[in-house]
Amino acid sequence: ATPTALLVGTGRGSQLGILIGGPEVLERTRTVDTIVLDKTGTVTTGTMAVRSVVPAAGVDPDTVLALAAAVEEGSEHPVARAVVVDARSRSLVVPTAEGFAATPGAGVQAVVSSADARAAAAVVVGRSDWLRDAWAVDLSDGLRTAVERAEAEGSTAVAVARDGLAVGIVVVGDTVKDESAAAVGRFRALGLRPVLLTGDNDGAARVVADAVGIEEVHARATPASKLEVVRRLQRDGHVVAMVGDGVNDAAALAAADLGIAMGSGTDAAIAASDITVVSGRLTVVADAVRLSRATLRTIK
Ligand code: ADP
Ligand code: MG
Repeated sequence: ATPTALLVGTGRGSQLGILIGGPEVLERTRTVDTIVLDKTGTVTTGTMAVRSVVPAAGVDPDTVLALAAAVEEGSEHPVARAVVVDARSRSLVVPTAEGFAATPGAGVQAVVSSADARAAAAVVVGRSDWLRDAWAVDLSDGLRTAVERAEAEGSTAVAVARDGLAVGIVVVGDTVKDESAAAVGRFRALGLRPVLLTGDNDGAARVVADAVGIEEVHARATPASKLEVVRRLQRDGHVVAMVGDGVNDAAALAAADLGIAMGSGTDAAIAASDITVVSGRLTVVADAVRLSRATLRTIK
């Protein structure tokens, strides 16, 4: 392959809204046989909405949402956006938070002041298994049942704890992008095996996988285990493309033979990737694969 011809390929790429790190990237794209897709924000819109709030006994649901929103103001995660938007739309008074910290793929924490600013509480929002393992917060049987029901329906339930006690759960969900099923069909037609990879629960992962026609699913993945899934596929002899949008995807994107970031995604994902799809459209990823193959065919 001559560099000039490859540069023509990258030029064509930018017309399609595909930003390619360098001419050598097209060479790697040609040999890819497996495509690992992040769920939230990649296969789904990533625009989550609050579906319900389930408070612990004796807690007001607005309190659960206001506490969660106070912490989530500091986060860009789709779950966080859903919580903040919902609290605003209900005109809740959201207390101020300090000392915000996020654990990618798990949840967020901050110190939240009460409405009268006389008391402060440590508030944690995130996966219920993270609250249990990292914060020793256990859910009541009622809340646990609500989490299980939400997950079985394909929703995502995050738990909210104040000073070490669970105050409720917030159930959020998003929708599969219109074109995701078509894009998965095109990946298959190009000979690529699709794999769904997500930090979300099994129920939510299954519902999305079924909607777009993917059989192989890895759910409840941490950023480290996302990386491990990519490495394992590579050890099995596959050439792996990974498509993602989040901070939680960055390590896996960097390790993949071809890292593809959604332009709608975070800076960390874009920096870790070889290719950026500006529009965030999954069908354009199929265009990128087709383009690289066509480009190299012309040269040879
Ligand atoms: P995905 O792989 O689907 O993009 P993530 O790895 O970003 O999902 O997140 C996995 C899970 O961690 C989410 O489903 C959610 O339960 C929890 N989580 C991550 N970030 C947050 C946050 N800011 N607030 C609450 N929960 C979060
Ligand atoms: Mg994502």
